Amino acid sequence: MSPPVVLTIAGSDSGGGAGIQADLKTIEAGGAFGTSAITSVTAQNTQGVRGSHLLPIEDIEAQIDAVLEDFDVAAVKTGMLATADVIETVVDYADRLPNLVVDPVMVAASGDRLLEPDAEEVYEELIAESTLVTPNADEAAVLTGINPKNEGEAREVGEQLVELGSDAALVKGGHIPIPEVTDVLVTADDVTTIRHPRVETNATHGSGCTLSSAVATRLAHGDDLTAAVESGVDLLSRAIRYNLDVGGGPGAVHHTV
Ligand code: PLP
Repeated sequence: MSPPVVLTIAGSDSGGGAGIQADLKTIEAGGAFGTSAITSVTAQNTQGVRGSHLLPIEDIEAQIDAVLEDFDVAAVKTGMLATADVIETVVDYADRLPNLVVDPVMVAASGDRLLEPDAEEVYEELIAESTLVTPNADEAAVLTGINPKNEGEAREVGEQLVELGSDAALVKGGHIPIPEVTDVLVTADDVTTIRHPRVETNATHGSGCTLSSAVATRLAHGDDLTAAVESGVDLLSRAIRYNLDVGGGPGAVHHTV
């Protein structure tokens, strides 16, 4: 048996809800083989981030090299990249990163920053290389200057990101204050709207990581982009609805539903 291999380039979350830990659980639950390059080691739990230690660039490169030289990687996702230097390092590898899903992680659900402010503009370079970029409304506002409050504005965000060079943008509706969650997938020639009921829960830690990993996993299995996104959104809805109660804080999404 040889499952497709997915690489996650992201930060470690000691609390297990987000980051590399969420990615690997999601990838394995999706029937692929998960590999990783850790950018930063965070000390955190369900209540917040206590500290963060960035790895030297050469150690991040060494991990990516070790994976790429040994495995036939079918899809890649990026999560917490922490600094402009790390983003630029990933851009340098872009030609060798197939089915690249970029989750432009900036701030944790607890409000803690996971990206240095001067790195925000460098994200454009990585988005230009991506198969899919998956911003929430806050990240969309930083990346495009539009803070989407409705479906039309989410579509405008997606169009701007596709103009930057991404094959597609999934503008996530979880942070947009309308009753039904509306995610908007924009490609160069199509717009797909995915609606699902809002689930009242605070256990959303790891939702962005889980969604982007689920989509990368489906791309690795050979799904086309729209099918992979629909499958990822469906998985995340179930993962949030599970209302996983772990730790003393708001909990986390379930990664293996
Ligand atoms: N990556 C790491 C290492 C994190 O700690 C977090 C949030 O705490 C994230 C990514 C983003 O998490 P989410 O999936 O909730 O957007």
